Amino acid sequence: MEHHRTSGEEAKEAEETSLRALARLRPGAPVDLAAIPSDATPGFAGAKAAGRAETAAMGAELAALQERLYAAATGGDRRRLLLVLQGMDTSGKGGTVKHVAGQVNPSGCRIQAFKAPTEEERAQHFLWRVTRALPKAGEIGVFDRSHYEDVLVVRVHGLVPEPVWTRRYDEINAWERALADDGVTFVKVFLHIGHEEQRERLLARLDKPHKHWKFDAGDIEERRRWPEYQRAYAAALERCSTDAAPWYVVPADRKWYRNWAVSRLLLEHLRALDPPYPTGDFDVAAIRARLRAEKAEAKVAKAKPQAQL
Ligand code: AMP
Ligand code: MG
Repeated sequence: MEHHRTSGEEAKEAEETSLRALARLRPGAPVDLAAIPSDATPGFAGAKAAGRAETAAMGAELAALQERLYAAATGGDRRRLLLVLQGMDTSGKGGTVKHVAGQVNPSGCRIQAFKAPTEEERAQHFLWRVTRALPKAGEIGVFDRSHYEDVLVVRVHGLVPEPVWTRRYDEINAWERALADDGVTFVKVFLHIGHEEQRERLLARLDKPHKHWKFDAGDIEERRRWPEYQRAYAAALERCSTDAAPWYVVPADRKWYRNWAVSRLLLEHLRALDPPYPTGDFDVAAIRARLRAEKAEAKVAKAKPQAQL
């Protein structure tokens, strides 16, 4: 007998085959980054050309969904999305920002890169500067680095005493939880790049004088601390992947896959939000009639002799 699937069953199946389900780190599950290949392409069976084509094909729907999110906010919908990008140097955070921003209307985006904190920022709680940079209702926010630096670089370099950074995991979870309750959809992406791939990308930067501005002698020192960073990342991913704000791991050795995966994750989250266009609070028929009448009135006015004016 033929079985007609209900929309609930279809939604369940879509969720199970989604990249969201595939790339998400389960809350509390141990994270072993060495066991996750950085050159894999989970969820995508094809090669580069097909990946690029599929990414391009997602653009129109992404843009349409972003417009709906923005429109919904004008009707009082408080929801907004925050893409958090973390990853080692050269993992492609900047490239991802460029790619994502290029797919949607930049007016609806709020993009913020986080560098070493300024003196003013250091005087505040570590969540102060990220709170200020949050997207407003209807916006898509993108963080290039984030509050996670405060348990990554800060932990690796011991920039604050251990008891201080240790309690930050719980502080982050509570902060994200409160925001999620207030309508923020978190899409936290760890761009997972391999040690050898980073070496090649750093060498490529050196080969191109027009890329030297991106090069920081300190990057080499940071590279030496790779194992410590991997441990710090594993701890952050493990302790801060929550139901309210899960982490997604995106293998990032292949740029085309990274772009596909981040676009795909955004698309799946925006589809799930399904923002409604607000209904206008005006009388469409009456206004239409008035605009139509303008032309008729103009004709009458033109027909009248000057003397009468
Ligand atoms: P880039 O993203 O290459 O422009 O580099 C930004 C630098 O800022 C990186 O070296 C980060 O580790 C550093 N940074 C970002 N946030 C923090 C923070 N909260 N504390 C210390 N350094 C940070
Ligand atoms: Mg850098």
